[in-house]
Amino acid sequence: MTRLVSALAYLCLATLSLFAPANAADTRLGRDVVPTFQSISLRLDADSTSYTGATHIELKATVATQTFRFHARGVTLDKIRFTSSKGPVQLTTTTGDKGLITATLQRKITPGAYKLDIEFHDTFNTDAVGLYRMEKDGHAYAFTQFEADYARDAFPCWDEPSIKIPYQLTISVPKDEIAIANTLPEKETVKDGWKTTVFKTTRPLPSYLLAIATGDLELVDIPGLGVPGRVVTVTGQSQLAKAAAENTAPILHALEAYFGTPYPYDKLDLIAVPEYWAGAMENAGAITFSDRILLQDPAAQNVNQMRLLVMVTAHELSHMWFGDLVTMEWWDDLWLNESFADWMGDKITHELHPEYAWNLTSLQDSQRIMFQDAQPSTRAIRQPIDSTDNLFENVGLAYNKGKAVLSMFERWIGPETFQKGVNAYLKAHAWGNATADDLWKELDHASGKNVSQLMAGFIEQPGLPLVALESGSEPGTFILTQRRFTNLGVDQPNLSWKIPITLKFEHDGKVDTQSLLLDTPEQTVNLGANVSWVYPNQDAYGYFRWTIPSEMLKSLAAAGVRSLTPRERIGLISNSGALLLAGAIHGDDYLRTLEAMGGDPEPLVLSSLLEPLQNLKVMIPADASPGFAAYVRRTLAPALDRVGMSAAPGEAEAISVVRPRLLGALADEGQDAKVQSFAKTEAKRFLEDPASIDPALAGTVLILAAHDGDRALFDAYRVHAEGAKTPAVRSQYLNGLGSFRKPELRAAALEYVLSGPLRPNEIFTVTRAMGNDEAGREETYRWMTEHYEAITGRIPAEFASFMPFFATGCSEERLQHARTFFADPKHQVSGQDVQLAEVTDQVNDCVRLREREGEAMTAYLDATSRSSSAHRPAGSPR
Ligand SMILES: [Zn+2]
Repeated sequence: MTRLVSALAYLCLATLSLFAPANAADTRLGRDVVPTFQSISLRLDADSTSYTGATHIELKATVATQTFRFHARGVTLDKIRFTSSKGPVQLTTTTGDKGLITATLQRKITPGAYKLDIEFHDTFNTDAVGLYRMEKDGHAYAFTQFEADYARDAFPCWDEPSIKIPYQLTISVPKDEIAIANTLPEKETVKDGWKTTVFKTTRPLPSYLLAIATGDLELVDIPGLGVPGRVVTVTGQSQLAKAAAENTAPILHALEAYFGTPYPYDKLDLIAVPEYWAGAMENAGAITFSDRILLQDPAAQNVNQMRLLVMVTAHELSHMWFGDLVTMEWWDDLWLNESFADWMGDKITHELHPEYAWNLTSLQDSQRIMFQDAQPSTRAIRQPIDSTDNLFENVGLAYNKGKAVLSMFERWIGPETFQKGVNAYLKAHAWGNATADDLWKELDHASGKNVSQLMAGFIEQPGLPLVALESGSEPGTFILTQRRFTNLGVDQPNLSWKIPITLKFEHDGKVDTQSLLLDTPEQTVNLGANVSWVYPNQDAYGYFRWTIPSEMLKSLAAAGVRSLTPRERIGLISNSGALLLAGAIHGDDYLRTLEAMGGDPEPLVLSSLLEPLQNLKVMIPADASPGFAAYVRRTLAPALDRVGMSAAPGEAEAISVVRPRLLGALADEGQDAKVQSFAKTEAKRFLEDPASIDPALAGTVLILAAHDGDRALFDAYRVHAEGAKTPAVRSQYLNGLGSFRKPELRAAALEYVLSGPLRPNEIFTVTRAMGNDEAGREETYRWMTEHYEAITGRIPAEFASFMPFFATGCSEERLQHARTFFADPKHQVSGQDVQLAEVTDQVNDCVRLREREGEAMTAYLDATSRSSSAHRPAGSPR
């Protein structure tokens, strides 16, 4: 599944389970009686609130037993029949937690084959998980989202990933509607106003990868796949499917080339779903997507949307092998399932579209996650999972740390060797299940190195290392040490790692590299004479932070663009931010470093400067904000010169990608009047004629124009959101509605969130936009506490656990209030403490940093805004 930024997180996600794990034996199915085949018939009319179904399951008893268990949650079992070769055996059922049904047979059965037939009925879900109904433009549709444990909400099944069996689906819908499942139809009949589609039996699948879509769907062929392929949309949207239809075959073929085997299933549908929580979901042969990612207006091609479409498609298609063909044994390897798909998705995106410079974009994800991994609330990305309750609470960390670690090891053993190991793993476990250890074993075997042992340090323990390099006593020697990286003022147990490191250094004017494995607390290396600087993480592939002597840091910063790759410059910016939090450099030095990087010629290096500037704004005291705004304008002025406010014909794609973010930072953090006025003019033009402005800028200018917009503009946004012809434009207007800053319009936007025609997954689009400044954070937090029941009543419990994110920012008072608020049993859901711990870390870090460095930063901002000639060279730690 692709998860975009969490519904509520202003920053990233992280975790620490404070809930006692349930006893695994109580929540897991047994293996005494397991299915070998299941057919499911459903009669689905999404205009109705309920549906009926029947299922036939072939069972195998492996031991003599009188009981067995399966899943069905909220499903009414009307008739249930258990049959042995000799005839029916009476049975009774009881229902436990999480839809765990215990069936008790009248007598003990012997090992062998049995049949279970169940007739059932159920109501459709309406919160976009399980088998759910939704309406759009007067038409009703049914869709599914089964990961992690929602298949049991739709029909009786063995709902665990290691139960991989062939399924055969039969779906009846009103005769003019279309039904889609994981495989091609085998037979279609119409009778009494119902159309019944019998689908071919699937290859072995776990229940969480089954998918269904029904309704007045539109289909657009995807050419060149080698199997039948379609983009599936709701009524009236198929004209938005062109980009998806054109981009899919090249991605699929690149993956077939990497994995060395053809696409494993008999067809491929990409389904655009209007009401959807995730980014996309890798159902075998029937991938569902959030419509705003899959569907694009051909008349308003937007570079950022195209990149997202390609990246998410590559991620989901790579799951067809890694996740679907070979499935994790249990949810404790969900992190690998997802980080591998993310890593592979990045790799394929970069291979097919070098113009995206995607390797620089994905590096920013890896660098960002290290901040989260440094906090006390972090935890190991692989750990025992006994319950599916809060499976996704750790995903931000798991996806991004996982993929950073995979990249590091791919680099260490070499991409061809890595590929060999991956493919041996897929071959050995095709159509079955496997664990992370199975993959490490193949990588060990392919490389002749002990990958397993090195991986364990990064996967099975929390946090990340700090590698410190100091000059040794002998000329040309350097001492490398390692310890756990922590932010200043935070006490955490030390840990050790085995770290593959490639040092890049300059000696006698030449740049050279040296690789080593730092597997001890301290190691000495000889780099030869006259070393002027060492960059301890060549191309920023290592998952660690680093320090070097301050004199060397100056030489390194001076070497900058001449000697460092764009990846290394992005790594340098992020590492400086980490050192600031660790107390290793001071605030004014940090500001100076960022300012010096503002002249970087690579647009995506400039892009990596914007996030630190936005984070700084959160902690800058109000009275220093004019100085801060001047600093932002000064820092980004060279970038604006290079990128410009409007697109130039034939410009590099990276420039178009950075422009909206750059303008956003200049107008908001930088309070740049010229950019603000440009944004207002463009927003006005967009409202009048969407085709008249650069589509890539639309979202940004709507947000910026809203900042001091009036009621008339607010109403115009609302009308445009409700009448939007494309999902992306609707989303842009909803973001805009959350960006008004006049108090009465903030209140109106929050009122609209609960009273307006929003889908449950859109509630947080508005509030997230509002969390962009301190007044907005305070306002949305207060609103959340006042409307807690109304909000949580509309969303799946899984997402209610993210509510503490409303308390992010730099306010101890708000955090304190949140701690009291969430301590109330009325405001508690499973998994919430984990999120609260993470928010607590974020706020504490911010508050400590402001106390420690606020004065030095304010003084620097004052002095430099008075005299912009007061520059010192960058990166000069005190
Ligand atoms: Zn995924």
